[in-house]
Amino acid sequence: MLVWLTMAEAALQQKSFLSGKVEHFTESVIREMTRQAMLYKAVNLAQGFPDFPAPREVKESAQEAIAGDINQYAITWGAKNLRDAIARQSQVWQGIRVDPETEITVCCGSTEAIVSTLLAVCNAGDEVVIFEPFYENYGPDAIISGAKPRFVKLRPPATSDGEWTFDERELRAAFHNQTKAIVLNTPNNPSGKVFTRGELELIRDLCVEFNVLAITDEIYQHIVYDGTEHISVASLDGMQERTVTINGMSKTYSVTGWRVGWTIAPPEITNAIRKVHDFLTVGAPAPLQEAGAAALGLPPAYYKQLAEGYRVRRDLLLPVLESTGFRCFRPRGAYYVMTDISAFGFPDDVSFTNYLVREIGVAAVPGSSFYSNPRDGARQVRFAFCKRNDTLNEAALRLQRLRKR
Ligand code: GLN
Repeated sequence: MLVWLTMAEAALQQKSFLSGKVEHFTESVIREMTRQAMLYKAVNLAQGFPDFPAPREVKESAQEAIAGDINQYAITWGAKNLRDAIARQSQVWQGIRVDPETEITVCCGSTEAIVSTLLAVCNAGDEVVIFEPFYENYGPDAIISGAKPRFVKLRPPATSDGEWTFDERELRAAFHNQTKAIVLNTPNNPSGKVFTRGELELIRDLCVEFNVLAITDEIYQHIVYDGTEHISVASLDGMQERTVTINGMSKTYSVTGWRVGWTIAPPEITNAIRKVHDFLTVGAPAPLQEAGAAALGLPPAYYKQLAEGYRVRRDLLLPVLESTGFRCFRPRGAYYVMTDISAFGFPDDVSFTNYLVREIGVAAVPGSSFYSNPRDGARQVRFAFCKRNDTLNEAALRLQRLRKR
């Protein structure tokens, strides 16, 4: 008996209460920087959420839905009004025909949409190709789903006005028999790259050759600059049947806290995503889905103003950063700017952003959080410019102290 107890105790001591999966990733640095911004009363140019109000008509639609007693579960894969609106706008914006009954799943934000998709399609040992720098969720998302991320480099432009590019041979070398999917994000967070038709066709050809799925996060679809065109991956010949398109309300309607996103995928894949989504969350907030249906009906002028508003903010922040000593990689889309911090002589990006938030009063995201190998991002820092002019001007004022340092 004594021996048995000792063995049981030993076994108990060895047993970890934690899943091995979570040891392979850290907490989100983006969200951590927001907490630090609050702690040090810094201007938050770290996490990408607008600090200005959401459109009045979108808020009113949500209020009406709540007052109208749309307060119980929506259909688990999404309220019919919202799915119909998504299908209608997919046709208008991208010329893609989507069946709202069998090809759309509304989720709790595009964050859940991506993880539900990966859980629905990946088996242990599958590989997922991801361009880096990447939005920091994709790495943990792949690990949670049991897949192994395989990173392909996006190289920063040589000049401030150049484009981020990738090496075709490096991308091809990442594809093989175990490759299940490629995760794409265009317009891209954090680089601001908007993938060109030529690049997407190359990716398409590899997906077809290796029978690989494209999981494409197009949440910044409407935020493009300088005449750049957003091309939806599913609109390319031969791609609709092997593409899961992820999108949502957060960035287009400035409602990041609502958590309404969706997937568009062929029926068989949608079926699998719906099962995962149902058991994970049952459904996204019902009244906010009704507001989503109304929001998707906003006129084309709304989307033009959205992009133009962000272009003005980009063109306000970039010269400020450049005159402070940052080398900026001019974004063509989304609302972030990646910068090179070599001129400041800090040992790395984390010591720099710590100094910036504590001593200068501006929060930014260290570049290493967008790379699998932190060293690759050690000279980079990301700023978000989805903020009021007042906020950007206050940041500009504070950054002057960095210049004088
Ligand atoms: N997409 C935003 C960013 O990159 C916010 C992400 C989040 O915190 N959910 O900052």
